[in-house]
Amino acid sequence: MFSAEFKSISGEDTYPLSQVVYRGKDGSLLEVSHNRSAWNSRSPSDWKSLFQQRRASFAPVDLSGVWSKRELVLPGLPVEDIVTLQEGFSPLFNAQKLAKEINVKSLHVKLCGNSHTGSFKDLGMTVLVSQVNHLVKNKIPIKAVACASTGDTSAALSAYCAAAGIPSIVFLPAGKISVAQLVQPIANNSIVLALDTDFDGCMKIVQEVTADKSIYLANSMNSLRIEGQKTIAYELCQELGWSLPNTLIIPGGNLGNVSALAKGIDDLLVLGLIEKKPRIIVAQAENANPFYLAYKRNFNKLEAVQAEKTLASAIQIGNPVSYPKAEQAIKDYNGIVEQVSEQELADAAHRADKIGLYCCPHTGVALGALFKLCEKKEISSDESVVVVSTAHGLKFSEFKAGYHEQNLEGIISKYANAIHRLPANAGAVADVLRGKV
Ligand SMILES: *Cc1c(COP(=O)(O)O)cnc(C)c1O
Repeated sequence: MFSAEFKSISGEDTYPLSQVVYRGKDGSLLEVSHNRSAWNSRSPSDWKSLFQQRRASFAPVDLSGVWSKRELVLPGLPVEDIVTLQEGFSPLFNAQKLAKEINVKSLHVKLCGNSHTGSFKDLGMTVLVSQVNHLVKNKIPIKAVACASTGDTSAALSAYCAAAGIPSIVFLPAGKISVAQLVQPIANNSIVLALDTDFDGCMKIVQEVTADKSIYLANSMNSLRIEGQKTIAYELCQELGWSLPNTLIIPGGNLGNVSALAKGIDDLLVLGLIEKKPRIIVAQAENANPFYLAYKRNFNKLEAVQAEKTLASAIQIGNPVSYPKAEQAIKDYNGIVEQVSEQELADAAHRADKIGLYCCPHTGVALGALFKLCEKKEISSDESVVVVSTAHGLKFSEFKAGYHEQNLEGIISKYANAIHRLPANAGAVADVLRGKV
């Protein structure tokens, strides 16, 4: 009864999920289109109790935030073909102290980076690699899976492929990702290609290479990934007592994740698990802001930009593939797009660290947008807010250490906490501590 297929977002053409296809007839993006009316064969309270029941189970698929919602993700996939690393069910950090400082009703940070490879990309990759695993088992000729990446996609792809025993190939812009991100696919035995270009350049080449259908494309223009990432919305809803906050803020690069968030909320509305629409805010770095510029032009069209270097390296993208879906997300959810400077993102990340977070620069972009919009009174004091944190700060040690050592180029480190370098002498220690504790 539950079923899904690929469907073009602008036409009526559809394709079975078993087909290797990334775009529709006219070149538009595809989405995984579910037979949503079948969902209503279960009442909202039946869905809730099913999901609550699975939360108490230790079956590997139930321990996954994604596969615990499997009927809504890939209903036709046999459970034994699922490749899971227990992604999802990530912590929801209560940032009440910060909420008080900026004067909003509540603030939570969804720590999607607390995951196997340290970013939300695991949520989508488990779905894509599981489907590929299913195809390979059914003798569809796929030799390897490939992606272009700003670091986190390749880390996720290589880990899930290694777990499944499927070869992977990653295309990275040389010198533009963190050391931790580069080491991950090397460690997981991917074929690692560092190209002398930026992300947009890598994206072009990987599309050429994957024109050969035996090399499967894993970028987020592949709509299977969106099906995993959309479960962020389900999970938030579940952990907030079957409700969503007034406002969700998410950093955007290629714009797959905001599309996924919106799709998850669409689903919740259809399922009857929520009634009220939240607002979605996308945050971009000023140095890579094509979506912000399009928003300012009332979305008349996307104009690709040359993305400049940003500390938020995972969103240094000038020509976002999922633009049409993201535009729809902003329109459907009364959205705003905001941008922040390098200074703002660096300060925002480290201001939030002071209450126990450990923010990556992209989370800094989202928090920076939050602070800015509160100052402009575009977010008001009666709003509940959730910020989607996309990666773990530990993947961005150059950013974190550089900030505190005050040697990030062009950044004044307002929240720096300097190390006290002392002789091994209790008197010197006492001198430093005096007046501090
Ligand atoms: C991929 C990524 C993003 C951007 O997600 P999109 O779907 O490309 O908009 C943001 N932050 C981090 C850490 C990422 O890895």
